[in-house]
Amino acid sequence: MSAFKDIIPLNEWFSEFVDLPLIIAGPCSAETERQVLETATEIAASNKVKVFRAGIWKPRTRPGSFEGIGKEGLKWLEKVKAETNLLTTVEVANPKHIELCLKHNVDILWIGARTTANPFSVQELANALKGVDVPVMIKNPVNPDINSWIGAIERLYKTGLRKLAAIHRGFYPFEETYLRNIPKWELIIELLRKYPGLPVLSDPSHISGSPEYIQEISQKALDLNIKGLMIETHINPEQALSDSQQQVTPAELDIILSNLNYRKQLTPNSAFADILEQYREKIDSIDTQMLELLAQRMEVIDDIGKYKSEHNITILQLRRWERIIQTRSKLGERLGLNKDFILKILQLVHKESIQKQAQIMNKIKKDI
Ligand code: PEP
Ligand code: MN
Repeated sequence: MSAFKDIIPLNEWFSEFVDLPLIIAGPCSAETERQVLETATEIAASNKVKVFRAGIWKPRTRPGSFEGIGKEGLKWLEKVKAETNLLTTVEVANPKHIELCLKHNVDILWIGARTTANPFSVQELANALKGVDVPVMIKNPVNPDINSWIGAIERLYKTGLRKLAAIHRGFYPFEETYLRNIPKWELIIELLRKYPGLPVLSDPSHISGSPEYIQEISQKALDLNIKGLMIETHINPEQALSDSQQQVTPAELDIILSNLNYRKQLTPNSAFADILEQYREKIDSIDTQMLELLAQRMEVIDDIGKYKSEHNITILQLRRWERIIQTRSKLGERLGLNKDFILKILQLVHKESIQKQAQIMNKIKKDI
């Protein structure tokens, strides 16, 4: 069952989907009828987008922020369908949402990152979808746990749904990075390798968190043979009631889509013929994360340098250094890493840290 072998290929879901990649665009949230219809009309004019997205019920981190317009917005989406050639998709988080979406002819449902993480909620959704022939896209959970992502897809699959797809929206970064959510491409490559029958789409907007990196992330996704993109698009991003920092205008969307290079796209059969390339992509992703962590470590070093200087403490603290070697060597061994290799790395990192702290202390002395 878990191989998802008989999942229906994305390009067979609707006659409009023959040409992949599938582009989904629309606002984070439906806010007003005018905002929805103007955004949809402009998006449709480019002829590059097939599906219009809009959040009707919004999962917000803190209460009191805009929690979605609710079912009224579903009527606006029906107008979008009537006035443009776009299909529609909406996030559902409970059976009532499903009932309302189906009543208002929403074409595709999607399950949000917070819901995917909760097996109780996903099971309730799966039960509500029994016997219904509607496509469902499942976003990855906020935490980098591929098993709960697959588990959610399996729950839907078990009820008989065969039009299923995964959406990669990145993972919560425990430390700040330049992206809102860490892509962890190595996990996606593993997912694609393990479940070749499962269509995977990318949501570069939630990975990027700003318009700045959407182009780059979209390209990366296509290069990995990801089947579609979901890009948050708003007629007036600055005024958006949710995710205002990351949405692009329909004109900006058009530029992003025009600049994408589709040549590298592989056919489904040769999708992963180039195993070496897959391994390299994984290594690239892990190296990026390693360098980001090193940069974060050095930032803490700056702070500790300042702190020691303020309290007139020497840079080198031998007891601390011994403890670092001891604990990291033990951990390295547990992880199956060569002891000498770990020691060399630790020495290099420590040397750089000491030099950095010395620079900071000298600078502080000079400033005084
Ligand atoms: C969204 O698509 O607007 C959204 C809430 O996304 P996610 O579930 O990925 O956070
Ligand atoms: Mn959003």
